[in-house]
Amino acid sequence: MKRGKKIIILSHCILNQNCVVKPYAKDQEEFFKFIKSFLLNNYGFIQLPCPELVILGLKRWGHVKDQLEYPNFKLECKKLLYSIVDQIDIYLKNGYEVKGVYGIKGSPSCGVNKTCRGDWEGEASCYKNLEDIINRVHLVSEKGIFMEILEELLKEKNIKLSFYDIDDWSEEID
Ligand code: SF4
Repeated sequence: MKRGKKIIILSHCILNQNCVVKPYAKDQEEFFKFIKSFLLNNYGFIQLPCPELVILGLKRWGHVKDQLEYPNFKLECKKLLYSIVDQIDIYLKNGYEVKGVYGIKGSPSCGVNKTCRGDWEGEASCYKNLEDIINRVHLVSEKGIFMEILEELLKEKNIKLSFYDIDDWSEEID
């Protein structure tokens, strides 16, 4: 097996848990089975950048989608994605198969079928207690901001890809 001419697009943290908001990082090994199945079938990977790491840093608080839905976050996401979309376009135009995009279920940025929304703003002291903060968050059936923008930019180039969620909250990732 040499050039497989098959590609999948992965959210950054699937290959690098170092960027994940505290305390949710997992052992990288937990993604091994998923990654191995593609390697064994000679797929190559495009690793998306982690928008939250780049825009908000490693010491960020956990966010919900509502907090990221502002123009400059979206603009920065676009800047991060332009060259990725160009790469996808190049591969497709040269007859490569781009199997799809794998995001992270529930992420405000990289969720595909589910993202998290909630009535969060201001200092933690604005809320009664931790439970009050947690109870305001809920999963909704929409994409996170980064995935929405990726889909939008692909559409502008008439590229239609399948999007999948990795459920990294479950014990088994496969
Ligand atoms: S889900 Fe997206 S934003 Fe969140 S850590 Fe992974 S790559 Fe970064």
